[in-house]
Amino acid sequence: MMPKLLFYNTLSRQKEEFQALKKGQVGLYTCGPTVYNYSHVGNLRTYLFEDFLKRVLEYNGYKVKQVMNITDVGHLTGDRDMGEDKLEVGAKREKKTALEIAAFYTAAFQSDLQNLNIEEPTLWCKATENIPEQIALIKTLSEKGFTYQTSDGVYFDTSLVPNYNQLSHLPLAELKEGARVEKNPEKKNPTDFALWKFSPSGVKRQMEWPSPWGIGFPGWHIECSAMSLKYLGDERDIHCGGIDHINVHHTNEIAQSEAATGEKFFNYWLHGAFLNVKGGKKMSKSEGNFLTLENSLLKNGLNPLAYRFAACQVHYRKPMEYSLAGMKQAQEGLDSLYGQVAALGHQSGQVATSFQAEFQAAVNDDLNLPKALAIMAAVLKADLVAADKLATVLDFDRVFGLRLDQAEEMAKTDLDLRDLPDEIRSLVIARQAARNAKDWEEADRLRQEIKKFGYLLEDVAEGVRIFKA
Ligand code: AMP
Ligand code: ZN
Repeated sequence: MMPKLLFYNTLSRQKEEFQALKKGQVGLYTCGPTVYNYSHVGNLRTYLFEDFLKRVLEYNGYKVKQVMNITDVGHLTGDRDMGEDKLEVGAKREKKTALEIAAFYTAAFQSDLQNLNIEEPTLWCKATENIPEQIALIKTLSEKGFTYQTSDGVYFDTSLVPNYNQLSHLPLAELKEGARVEKNPEKKNPTDFALWKFSPSGVKRQMEWPSPWGIGFPGWHIECSAMSLKYLGDERDIHCGGIDHINVHHTNEIAQSEAATGEKFFNYWLHGAFLNVKGGKKMSKSEGNFLTLENSLLKNGLNPLAYRFAACQVHYRKPMEYSLAGMKQAQEGLDSLYGQVAALGHQSGQVATSFQAEFQAAVNDDLNLPKALAIMAAVLKADLVAADKLATVLDFDRVFGLRLDQAEEMAKTDLDLRDLPDEIRSLVIARQAARNAKDWEEADRLRQEIKKFGYLLEDVAEGVRIFKA
């Protein structure tokens, strides 16, 4: 019998025992990035949480089908139905086409995922490649009487959905208040949202398509409904994102999907808390207080996995505070862990089953990774032979994803690095990160940089050796 697996479901505001729709399989939909700029480490915290979730499901023996969308059209700067398309803004800013912008930032995002050892989704899908599916869904909604047209688009009438607040649990008045930030006198209800927007007259958008209602482009929420219904079919188990998606994006996804299909959209909704900057403010692009993985970690000579390690230390439903000092501390903790694991040698041993049971109980209790880390620390101190300790921590690392199987390489580099000036140390670590991400060009550039300071590097099987020139 599978051990109990509990998740906090935003729908019920309770921890619930997870029951998959199909035995041994899970359909997981994770809302992906809007690819008009780099992701920041706040966004990446959400993707780390989703990766932990996927790994915990896999640890429990489930086969996970994960779908992640790439938003390359329809997400407006107002985040609701007003403003410019973020992709078109990015294209203007960089004097490129929207397609080029999307391709560039999608690749940058995928490289961030690699650096953080986040598993690739089973399937990527793009909004622009699923326009007919979105139009078909809007057609169904319109045939069922859930839509109305204004001068700028086709809207969903939220007043026709009795349980519109089933996810947010907020009084309707409060949801309406939130929606009033964007004034649109033609809407019947402030919470109504665009399904299809018309290209403004006299403006030739880079991305526009014909539709039964006129030339235009899909609203933001409809893409996730159309693509999750298409790609997950009847395997709609879990849908995730950051907590900012609860009141608008996910609320609207549920309203339109359930109105169109008459079926429950997803059984479990999981949301990750924010990464904040000092003082408790959310890290966000609109606040201009954001840092990319490059600026926060790589440039400071820190291993991106130090951020992953830090994310393991804070439960996903608790806010996490970003600071460079915190990242440096996480790097030290990770270095020490690599050192301890490297010292265990190479012999294959047995997983310590009592520790494994404790570990599984922790991660199965709504992803209690901080507790799971404490259990790993206890294993390292326990009265077990080195080979069994190694087997046990490597088993746990299927969830943590800290590349403990490469601990020796990582630890060895660190030992050599200790004798180096800070500046060179940072460059060497950044180069290791580039190599891990298979970014050979950047790795080469850093090697040259290091050479200017009079140090030569030699890549060997177990890591890198550093010599004075
Ligand atoms: P976006 O590209 O804006 O749609 O955001 C991508 C993902 O990052 C979404 O799931 C958001 O909920 C999430 N997100 C945005 N800001 C933060 C933050 N400061 N901390 C954690 N997650 C965030
Ligand atoms: Zn979404």
